[in-house]
Amino acid sequence: MDRVYLDHAATTPLDPRVLEAMMPYLRGYQANPNSLHKDGREAFQRLEELRHEVATSLGAKTPDEVLFNGGGTEGDVAALFGLIAARRSSRPARIIVSAIEHHAVLEPARRLAASGHKVIYLRPACDGIIDPVRLSEAIDDETDLVSIMYANNETGAIQPVRELAAIAHEHGALFHTDAVQALGKCPMGLEGLGVDAASFSTHKVYGPKGCGVLYLRRGVPFVTQMPGGGQEGGRRSGTQNLAAAEGTATALRMVEAGRQSENERLRGIQTSLVEGALNASSRVSLTVDPRTTPGSYLPNIVSLLVEGMESETLILRLDAAGFEVSAASACSSGSLEPSHVLTAMGISRDLAFGSLRVSLGRQTTADQVAGFTEALAKVIH
Ligand code: PLP
Repeated sequence: MDRVYLDHAATTPLDPRVLEAMMPYLRGYQANPNSLHKDGREAFQRLEELRHEVATSLGAKTPDEVLFNGGGTEGDVAALFGLIAARRSSRPARIIVSAIEHHAVLEPARRLAASGHKVIYLRPACDGIIDPVRLSEAIDDETDLVSIMYANNETGAIQPVRELAAIAHEHGALFHTDAVQALGKCPMGLEGLGVDAASFSTHKVYGPKGCGVLYLRRGVPFVTQMPGGGQEGGRRSGTQNLAAAEGTATALRMVEAGRQSENERLRGIQTSLVEGALNASSRVSLTVDPRTTPGSYLPNIVSLLVEGMESETLILRLDAAGFEVSAASACSSGSLEPSHVLTAMGISRDLAFGSLRVSLGRQTTADQVAGFTEALAKVIH
């Protein structure tokens, strides 16, 4: 039996074209891009070409705004700690984050709070979206940093980042966005979006794991969280991984080239999935309905709630039937707590315990999704 992978929000399979682009660096000898000899200079030159390409693709103003790093978690942690550490004021910082952030933002926020800074959590409305009015009410001129994700990894809700960033700037605060799930689905245009920092992860867009990009707008005060040899303009020390940079640039090129047509294709499958899941059992409901305002939700995530059942039971039964899905998020699978995202949206703990996240990708077909909804009907009893 072919297994059906419906967990693309957790990670995506490596695109063979990305692997091919990386192979020369993995197989052969690759000089350190910081060495002065010919091989080193060539590696450096390639790294800078890739930085230029990634910066253009993301809509950054200059290539030096792009730091190659170890992925989404590293970018989020560096942004929160690095932007706060660069403040000039001696009073405790005031930070606003949404209550639906990934743990990669919530954990550094918690540590900042534990060391005496003030952290304010913004709750979304029941549609999973942060209303800019709520930010306007919570922010003041002493706020240093606002961090709100571009798209949520559990519900797919796309946040009004441009408006939120503008509100932060009206009050003199910096704005960071975790754009890990939005990459390849939403238009980036970072300069136009008006964010000061943004984190990206390559493995969500058919690239390798353990690498990504942190965007830091030129001139944004930042204290590195990775001191050392001073690579990446002194903002992220460590010998650069040219294979990973090549993989990141190639993955981004591929995903951007097909973005609109793939979004449309996924949107069609998403609608069939929603309808099939709702028909599977009267106990199935949606966390949010991506059909109502499609522009507000990613086309690849469907978040379901199954009344009276636990996510783990559902996941294991579906797994036995050949379908791979997650609870609300891959990270909360196996945890005894219901998803913080779902409870922040006002969903009861009982119902949140029965959450399922089904996430689609390039290899997903309408037939696979039809098979999934049939299996779902069978496993709910
Ligand atoms: N932020 C979001 C929204 C994510 O979905 C993830 C991955 O699940 C991360 C951050 C962490 O990214 P990485 O796995 O590259 O560390």
